[in-house]
Amino acid sequence: MSSEELIQEFPFRRAGYPAIAWFPPRKTDTMSEVIVAVCSFDWIRNVQVDLQANQVQTSGNRPLHKVKHIIAVASCKGGVGKSTIAVNLAFTLAKLGGKVGIMDADIYGPSLSILVSIGNYATLQLLNGFYWSSISVKLMSFGYINTESAIMRGPMIANMMNQLLTETDWGCLDYLVIDMPPGTGDIQLTICQTISLDAAVIVTTPQQLSFQDVIKGIYMFDKVSVPCVALVENMAYLEPKDMPNKRYYLFGNGKGQKIADDYGIPFMESLPLDPDLCRWSDSGTPAVLVVSESKIAQLYHALASAVVQEIAKRAFGNRSKVPQVVFDSDKCAIVISNIDPSDGNTIHNQVEWSPWELRNACRCALCVDEWTGMERPKHVDRNVKPLQIQSAGNYAFSVVWSDGHQSLYPFERVAHTKVQESAYSNTPASTQG
Ligand SMILES: [Zn+2]
Repeated sequence: MSSEELIQEFPFRRAGYPAIAWFPPRKTDTMSEVIVAVCSFDWIRNVQVDLQANQVQTSGNRPLHKVKHIIAVASCKGGVGKSTIAVNLAFTLAKLGGKVGIMDADIYGPSLSILVSIGNYATLQLLNGFYWSSISVKLMSFGYINTESAIMRGPMIANMMNQLLTETDWGCLDYLVIDMPPGTGDIQLTICQTISLDAAVIVTTPQQLSFQDVIKGIYMFDKVSVPCVALVENMAYLEPKDMPNKRYYLFGNGKGQKIADDYGIPFMESLPLDPDLCRWSDSGTPAVLVVSESKIAQLYHALASAVVQEIAKRAFGNRSKVPQVVFDSDKCAIVISNIDPSDGNTIHNQVEWSPWELRNACRCALCVDEWTGMERPKHVDRNVKPLQIQSAGNYAFSVVWSDGHQSLYPFERVAHTKVQESAYSNTPASTQG
């Protein structure tokens, strides 16, 4: 493999990211190759190679103790292409050099066995011999075991899920991708509580994309302290093959970027409606393996890299950099303290919000019209108080208010400046337009 190709595959290539920290599994073979390759670029100033065995922490309730990171791919509704995305994400992670498994947790409508047929899979290993190693991804789905769809009730489902997850010989994995059943109900919550997920990717489509739905998903993961690291707006547009510069937004422009911004989801991607993808999916082959030079493969590459980066940031990052949020009852203010990242101790600066101001700054679907982006008229009691303040992953905190409202605030939006401060500070209670 040439140095150029090597760099292309290098997931930390994005600007501003140090060229260290994550390597494909065949470490010793690859080490010197990586150093030579990285040094061959004139923009490289300094190469620091950190080779770690990365002992897996057997923390808490994780039964999959040889699995380093577990990623949930979830959607609030069915039919958004979540499983296709889970499969292609898993295979892209494997292309990046990770040891990867994918578990189809949709007992009612298992689709992994259709998207990756075992017959094709054997051939694929040969097809992809030109990668570092042949791409092999461990697969488990109820569909491989039972071709009839399951008629089961709650407890049986939970049992079956548990068996598939914990009794499958996953071996040592860098990433296990869980294709979650659609929705945000008990089954989903059970999965989240059974295994400690590291990150969630939420999938939606423009026409079904509503604040309410995606936010339901964010809140579900929030309950179990799982950060949503990426939002994927699937089937967002069509690029005709003969007119590659044209893009048709068949279902209107989605609101994905707005949600990602509002809720502090670090990565958002719109995926096209791709006939190739559908064709390969139908034939039981992950598209990113066969059309590996295509635009769609590049988009998956970007998604997988972003997910890897976010997980790495959270696993190795300095957690004390997360601002602290407390309610100071003497001042009657919600105080957000930004911690100096250099020592993780000193308070850099503090932003104070009156409860009323912060409650008014809520951007949830009840407070903001999802289509127009306009704030809905609301009356907030001047004496509103926070009953509970909880951090939500590394990116946001949630507040339960005394008027029963629940809000989620990304630090990015409230930890540094008070947005729209003037819009609120002069207006006593009353309505907001
Ligand atoms: Zn709200």
